Amino acid sequence: MLVVMEHGATSEQVAGVVRLIEELGYQARPMPGSQRTAVGLVGNDGRVEGSRFETLPGVAQVIHVTKPYKQASREWHPDNTVVTIAPGVHVGGDDITLIAGPCSVESEEQIVAAARAVRAAGASCLRGGAFKPRSSPYSFQGLGKRGLEMLALAKRETGLAIVTEAMDDEGAELVAEYADCIQIGARNMQNYSLLRTVGRLGRPVLLKRGLAATITDLLLSAEYVLSEGNAQVILCERGVRSFDTAARNMLDLTAIPIVHKLSHLPILADPSHGTGLRDKVIPMARAAVAAGADGILVEVHPNPERALSDGAQSLFPEQFAQLVGELRTIATAIGRTITPVPGTSTAGVA
Ligand code: PEP
Ligand code: MN
Repeated sequence: MLVVMEHGATSEQVAGVVRLIEELGYQARPMPGSQRTAVGLVGNDGRVEGSRFETLPGVAQVIHVTKPYKQASREWHPDNTVVTIAPGVHVGGDDITLIAGPCSVESEEQIVAAARAVRAAGASCLRGGAFKPRSSPYSFQGLGKRGLEMLALAKRETGLAIVTEAMDDEGAELVAEYADCIQIGARNMQNYSLLRTVGRLGRPVLLKRGLAATITDLLLSAEYVLSEGNAQVILCERGVRSFDTAARNMLDLTAIPIVHKLSHLPILADPSHGTGLRDKVIPMARAAVAAGADGILVEVHPNPERALSDGAQSLFPEQFAQLVGELRTIATAIGRTITPVPGTSTAGVA
């Protein structure tokens, strides 16, 4: 349930609503908006009567949120959420955020070369897994803590914000020490214990859609993170399993406008895992931005033929540079801007 305050309601009136919610034994979530404040009631099991609030001073309206997810829904929070990954690096609103880098961190040389290349092309964030969820236990599993240290080195060298995956509860705290944004991979999208854990770590979370997850499933998973008090959630469409084996997955671009309608949370597209094929990545990245994606998460490797994971879908640095140029043109056409590279001026950047 959502208690919408009148325009110009006083802080005492908002406090009155919060007090009543707490007296009834529920949690109150005040949300100051651009026009008015709303107070969410968390955990309504159907026993709370909206009319108790309608007569309180300063209350304009009581909305019963009908979706199975609440805090992730646009009913609950009409304005777009803008997530701040690092100073000046935002996801959502008018920004289009470019997160690029190799599938896995492989060595100091590899990750620093990748970071320099994607920064030079215009990315604001470096991606790269130190803990890798591989389909086979015999495939390269990532460098673990050493990989995180290499990401820290790449950050020192380039100033890029770091996005990297946490695979389990035990590793999440360690990842949070190094990551500006914690990625939850497709395979873990419904690991509810991990979602609760990262909800408590105080870092932005990039939540990827599961291989066979519906959009409702994705938003319910986001709800787990939000319900722990972490409002900094970014969603990511990365393709779903389909009957067709022509591509690795089927990138569901319709999910982008659907999520924007249902939720205030930003959504990125990952055309790398979404297609699995290097020559399909650029067209689908362009299409995703044109469809309204708040950014892209894309695999770029300094030497894709030598990559220890996902080389076939990793762009060469020159291809990524070309893509960024094209995305700037698309962004301008739809009234958006590419998030600037940290430490550079925004003047003159489309
Ligand atoms: C990744 O981003 O490297 C990754 C493993 O992606 P996904 O979880 O979408 O398969
Ligand atoms: Mn990968």
